[in-house]
Amino acid sequence: MSAKKTRILLIYTGGTIGMIENPDTKALEPFDFNHLLDNVPKIKMLDFKIDNFQFDVPIDSADMNPAHWGQMAKVIEDNYDDYDGFVILHGTDTMAYTASALSFMLNNLTKPVIITGSQLPIGEVRTDGEENLITALQVAAAKDTDGGPMVREVAILFQNSLLRGNRSTKFSADNFDAFRSSNYPVLANIGLDITYNKDALLRPTKGKEFKVEYLMDTNVTYLDLFPGIQESVVKAVLSIPGLKGVVMKTYGVGNSPSNPWLFDCIRDAVHKGLLVINISQCSNGKVTPMKYSAGVGLAKAGTVSGHDLTSEAAITKMMYLFGMGATAQLAGKYMEKNLHGELTE
Ligand code: ASP
Repeated sequence: MSAKKTRILLIYTGGTIGMIENPDTKALEPFDFNHLLDNVPKIKMLDFKIDNFQFDVPIDSADMNPAHWGQMAKVIEDNYDDYDGFVILHGTDTMAYTASALSFMLNNLTKPVIITGSQLPIGEVRTDGEENLITALQVAAAKDTDGGPMVREVAILFQNSLLRGNRSTKFSADNFDAFRSSNYPVLANIGLDITYNKDALLRPTKGKEFKVEYLMDTNVTYLDLFPGIQESVVKAVLSIPGLKGVVMKTYGVGNSPSNPWLFDCIRDAVHKGLLVINISQCSNGKVTPMKYSAGVGLAKAGTVSGHDLTSEAAITKMMYLFGMGATAQLAGKYMEKNLHGELTE
């Protein structure tokens, strides 16, 4: 008797991969799923059972928001037991945000959720979409020596690499090799073979029930420092009504200008219950604010270190923690902890 075929659910949300040129405006617009599959006849050569689910209206990922993340999570939850893995087709612009958000929302995930897309539409002769889609399906179907899935986490598959979703950032607007994971090793190198970096793969604790957390609280924002930033700007951001958390992007290892007004503004905001996380504007390395006196002031004012979190992981993690109902103090504690492989403690 033949072994049961691997089953993959392909979720199409939109993005360049499925776009087609509008003959009037010449702009790229999302098209429907059949167009996509018609352009990848090779899919039929894969020996898996592939079903698909399409967003009612495929979107440019620039329009992505937490409600869409909830939609993806719901499709995965509803189909979790029936499939060995999930592939999400998504625009590249906000792919790293979606990958980070889903990594927090899909608790105790033990199956692959592989997100991919492309820089050129799938119908174009030089498209990168066909290769990315086929490889993503293969990765979602790959098995480890114990018979379980090789990948048990949310990951981004793009061109040469499989990356941890909540460690990824879109790095290039033009290159096929568009994503980087600067603070964590690649999960697999995609070359002639798909070579998995087994030491880097997440191995979630067995026996815990898969559970989706849907609530994401968007009362959060970024505050990006730059030489010359004005007190009025910082004050305006920190006093936004209803705001619960700020991801502050600082210089180097977590430094800021040493203006006393800056520390006073932050101290007041923290005192009033705002969570301020310090992450670096550098994509590689981590925040160690006590290294220079320029960073000590921020720590003393009550900011919490975001260690080596990406900007996408930091903001979505905050949304998730506040969505769970955490207070600023509790959320601050968890922002410093590694929950799903997003941070090096
Ligand atoms: N604007 C497109 C999107 O993010 C770009 C892409 O898919 O590469 O949906």
